[in-house]
Amino acid sequence: MNRRLENVTCCGCGLLCDDILLEISPQEISTSNACSCGQKFLATLVENSSNSATANPDQDLKTARQWLKAANSPMMCGLQGLSLEMQTDCIRFAQSEQMVLSTGKDTESTLAYQKYGGSGCSFGELRHRCDLLICFNFNPFSQWPRFSERFLEPKGQFITSRNDRTVFYVGTSENLGSSENFDEVILLDDKSLLESLVQIRKNLQRDDDRGTSSELQTLCQIFGEQTANSQYPILLQGSAEFGVATQLTQLLMEINKTARLHRIAAGSGIHSGSPQETILAMTGYPDHISFRNDGMDYDPQRYNAKRLITREEVDCVVVIGETDLEDLLQTSSARIIRMTNSQKIPSRTSDRLIELRWNQFAGTHLRCDGVPIPVKEFAEESASTPLRSLFQLLMS
Ligand code: SF4
Repeated sequence: MNRRLENVTCCGCGLLCDDILLEISPQEISTSNACSCGQKFLATLVENSSNSATANPDQDLKTARQWLKAANSPMMCGLQGLSLEMQTDCIRFAQSEQMVLSTGKDTESTLAYQKYGGSGCSFGELRHRCDLLICFNFNPFSQWPRFSERFLEPKGQFITSRNDRTVFYVGTSENLGSSENFDEVILLDDKSLLESLVQIRKNLQRDDDRGTSSELQTLCQIFGEQTANSQYPILLQGSAEFGVATQLTQLLMEINKTARLHRIAAGSGIHSGSPQETILAMTGYPDHISFRNDGMDYDPQRYNAKRLITREEVDCVVVIGETDLEDLLQTSSARIIRMTNSQKIPSRTSDRLIELRWNQFAGTHLRCDGVPIPVKEFAEESASTPLRSLFQLLMS
């Protein structure tokens, strides 16, 4: 059957473009407005959603239920790329089954933000007002293929052309890739990144540049004078080694005593969602929580997913979606219940692994600037297996 879906949202990267036209026929899937990454992403999603292999064998559901009931220390991890509604279902399920909930991702940025605060802004502000854009360890031109077309080039309310903006890159060469499209590039290695941030903050506090290298003077100039003199400066922050996110947040706090540098946290690859923000909103902590019958316990050292798996302190792990912990899980003796919406992963069931499939995609996704974007359903209603239904079956 032919289907035509308008204003479809693509989750192929953090931009979440929501102006895509999708035409689906038995012979082909055609898209308008999507970049080549988005076309591939959407085609895979449509194939996944129409695959009737999502029906889960009763025996697998029964065994998964038994494993959960028999577990002494179950854990849930993953949760990347889910809608807000699905993240909520996951957290409620972990709570009802008294599991440890640890996504397996670093929560440094969330904690730093919580501790030192910061001033966010949206892509709309970037398009209409931003005259100084500092890309920190992130190249939006390569990671977000439609970034320029949608936000830098169109005429904004106060910014009339790309020439009205200055775009800097500050960070490592690995995260830069190509330097075209930037007005200036300041390259630092991982070690000097952390040292430079500390130095810039000290220099801003002292308000002088005694004894600094020319590179550091340029950075102090960008984060000091240029930021203060800009109408609407924005920092686009990418991934950082441990400690850098905290230093950067502290630097922002220092700058924002006298000026205003807005921040957008950028992620590379496909849209990864915001489970830590949802966990924070629902529990008061961003991750690393142990749910118990008398409340919850939060301890980032103790309930770290890698640590728990390595030390064999969990006996049943529920993995939602894809996870970076895959290799570690293979070497552990814990039972694994994997709930996946990807048809890429071949179905494998063994005496310690069960795979359960879901294929519903609709829901609200948070774009990386914090704006909620609705995502349409791809699966035909009769073929839809929501994640929530799996949780209900496992609890029954
Ligand atoms: S830019 Fe990103 S969100 Fe937009 S179509 Fe391309 S992959 Fe999808």
